[in-house]
Amino acid sequence: MKTFTEIRALREHLQAERLAAAGKGKNLRIALVPSMGYLHEGHASLLRKARAENDFLVLSVFVNPIQFGPNEDFERYPRDAEKDLALAEREGVDAVFMPSVEEMYPRPTRTKVKVAELTERLCGATRPGHFDGVTTVVSKLFHIVQPDRAYFGQKDAQQVAVIAQMTEDLNFAVEIVPCPIVREPDGLALSSRNVYLSPEERKAALVLSRSLLQAQEKARGGGPVTAGEIRADVIQAIGAEPLAVIDYVEITNFPGLSPLAEAGRLDEKSREADVLIAVAVKFGTTRLIDNVILTKKGMA
Ligand code: AMP
Repeated sequence: MKTFTEIRALREHLQAERLAAAGKGKNLRIALVPSMGYLHEGHASLLRKARAENDFLVLSVFVNPIQFGPNEDFERYPRDAEKDLALAEREGVDAVFMPSVEEMYPRPTRTKVKVAELTERLCGATRPGHFDGVTTVVSKLFHIVQPDRAYFGQKDAQQVAVIAQMTEDLNFAVEIVPCPIVREPDGLALSSRNVYLSPEERKAALVLSRSLLQAQEKARGGGPVTAGEIRADVIQAIGAEPLAVIDYVEITNFPGLSPLAEAGRLDEKSREADVLIAVAVKFGTTRLIDNVILTKKGMA
């Protein structure tokens, strides 16, 4: 495994690897897993899938300042390069890209990549500019690495929808591969931000997966059920937890992210598209997100 902090050195290495493969008559399939580090089993699951499906695996670790708002946690976002490198090595990563902020943004950024509409709802409504930061850095990573496939977690379902739209709109020659959410045994979705939670908040946060699982079961139950009913159930369950402050509970189609009408049917037989039930909830100063996707065929 090689570690790179400079764009030029990484590019040269990838080019050499591509040429070496071509010399043997092979086309090197390159995978990219973008991350902000402080890696956990969620990241590891992306790396494993990417490792299994490609010839060369690049992991980027970069806490991207331009996707954080002025009052967000950029400065205190957890970082542990040593542990990240150990996990990457264990998962068979070929190249880790760990640039400094100056390497990625040597000058003030005057160019942004912006996906319209999909970024205005859900997390975009509470975190203005967040997705512009994400799509800008992911575009830069796509240009630098030129991967054949890039792997993203459904934990950030809106991010998957936004990146897929960007990739299509801008003709990036990259296949976007969504990967399932990895959870703790008690249901909490893994997140680098879980370290911020106090023991009480950690316990309270279980209400997210619990209420989403209940919603999923109700939709699978066979009887008729509407988006309005399910949304009310989830709001009530989370609202009953004293430490939880709801940012949003939304039910939309997926990946279009258009809100479903209150009367829109969620039961398996009536679902006309994949449906996303997404929540963002604050526990103290920590904002957590979670979701479930009910597939059109009921395979979620
Ligand atoms: P982050 O480092 O938080 O930017 O996440 C990097 C990638 O890992 C993103 O594509 C996330 O969606 C994905 N990821 C984070 N947490 C999980 C999880 N619990 N399960 C699956 N993927 C995850």
